[in-house]
Amino acid sequence: MSQAILPSGRATPATPQQAAGTGCPACDAECANSCYNDAIRYLGASIAIAPDDCGGCGACISACPHGWITLADGIASFRPR
Ligand code: SF4
Ligand code: SF4
Repeated sequence: MSQAILPSGRATPATPQQAAGTGCPACDAECANSCYNDAIRYLGASIAIAPDDCGGCGACISACPHGWITLADGIASFRPR
């Protein structure tokens, strides 16, 4: 039996990246509003990027006034501090 492949190309769901521990201060966040696919979500007081929902459009990079998001291999992530 073949294994289902996610839209991201991965076979297993990736863990969302939390902003905590990165440079992103989880401001009240234009990045989340900019994402057409709801890949950036608040989780309590923090915020996270769900890689499997990211289409790599780059809108969140433009939306962050502080430059804390980057694309790697077509997937958005918070930059390290
Ligand atoms: S990535 Fe930028 S816009 Fe998004 S929560 Fe972090 S600092 Fe705010
Ligand atoms: S790059 Fe990904 S997380 Fe950022 S706005 Fe586009 S789809 Fe959403």
